[in-house]
Amino acid sequence: MRHFDYSRAESVDQAVATYSQAEAAAFLAGGTNLLDMVKIDIMRPELMVDVNRLGLDEIEKLDDGRLRIGTLVTNSVLAHHFEVTSQPGYAVLSEALLSGASTQLRNKATTGGNMMQRVRCPYFRDGVSACNKRDPGSGCAAIDGYNRSVHAVLGTSDKCIATYPSDMSVAMAAVGATVSVTGPEGSREIDFLDFHLLPGDKPWEEFALKDDELITHVALDAPIQGARSAYLKLRDRSSYQFALASSAVIVALDGNTIRDARLAMGGVATKPWRAKEAENALKGQPATEQTFARAAQIAMQDAKGYKHNAFKIPLGRQAIVRNLTTLTA
Ligand SMILES: Cc1cc2nc3c(=O)[nH]c(=O)nc-3n(C[C@H](O)[C@H](O)[C@H](O)COP(=O)(O)OP(=O)(O)OC[C@H]3O[C@@H](n4cnc5c(N)ncnc54)[C@H](O)[C@@H]3O)c2cc1C
Ligand code: SF4
Repeated sequence: MRHFDYSRAESVDQAVATYSQAEAAAFLAGGTNLLDMVKIDIMRPELMVDVNRLGLDEIEKLDDGRLRIGTLVTNSVLAHHFEVTSQPGYAVLSEALLSGASTQLRNKATTGGNMMQRVRCPYFRDGVSACNKRDPGSGCAAIDGYNRSVHAVLGTSDKCIATYPSDMSVAMAAVGATVSVTGPEGSREIDFLDFHLLPGDKPWEEFALKDDELITHVALDAPIQGARSAYLKLRDRSSYQFALASSAVIVALDGNTIRDARLAMGGVATKPWRAKEAENALKGQPATEQTFARAAQIAMQDAKGYKHNAFKIPLGRQAIVRNLTTLTA
């Protein structure tokens, strides 16, 4: 590991100011992804600004019914928090969090760090292959290489096809959320769906965050009244494994008719993938397998398979149909 300086911040303003002074800085939260990236020499911060003492580890219910989560709230605490587990509309978030990594990792991993985790593409991580995300303009070894498990079929470009890895973020995309950030010029809010960027022509730009901005909170939309929700993660083995395809589903029924629906996908796309057209195909329809199959078809209709991952197209459809079938049974 390369040498780096370390600074523990005691306030948000101090964290941002310290970060801004360094040429190449990084905020250190749980460290489970950042230190990994530093050890394999993919990220090379000269200064790590530890943000663990900022007091941003509270979960608060707001007057308008939204749930405000401090960026330092760990994945374990969020998954088991009463305000999450007591709301059927938020069950999807708890299930997504508990499907990720291991207990030990979830005890360290934070809300902000989870959102900001880097892709698991082996060419990105090996440090030598052509990779536009790591080395802009060098190409993409995955497009003609081995692209089975951590490569996408939705939202890809001819510059990058890596899947975005976070389970939690897929659930947040379905629930709806707002990200609060603070930088040297003050604070602002970003719609969660705009926070993760498509690779496009600049896959090295991954987040709608300026270099010296700190995530301080994420506010979840109030749960849909009468809704139930679930996360289904399909993967090669049952733990320590990223999704091949996942679905985050929220539905509210009036009798057997779908009154409201939210649908997001993971494991198949380059960002947390909200499938709004598919949601519209569910709303007002009977909760039948035919309705679910049609929505799944719509959700995956723009998918483009590569040499080894075309199986994700039917698998993605299956992740939607199975989740909806179980949830509405
Ligand atoms: C073996 C293994 C298996 C895993 N399996 C899964 C899985 O199945 N599903 C899944 O979703 N994840 C999985 N993960 C990833 C894990 O969830 C992430 O490593 C973790 O969530 C990152 O959170 P952290 O707090 O440790 O972030 P850190 O490592 O501290 O930071 C990650 C990045 O976010 C930045 N950052 C952190 N906080 C902020 C902030 N407040 N504002 C701005 N930038 C910030 C850091 O600078 C860094 O660039 C796995 C990880 C490992 C090691
Ligand atoms: S898929 Fe993306 S991360 Fe992987 S090699 Fe290509 S550019 Fe790099």
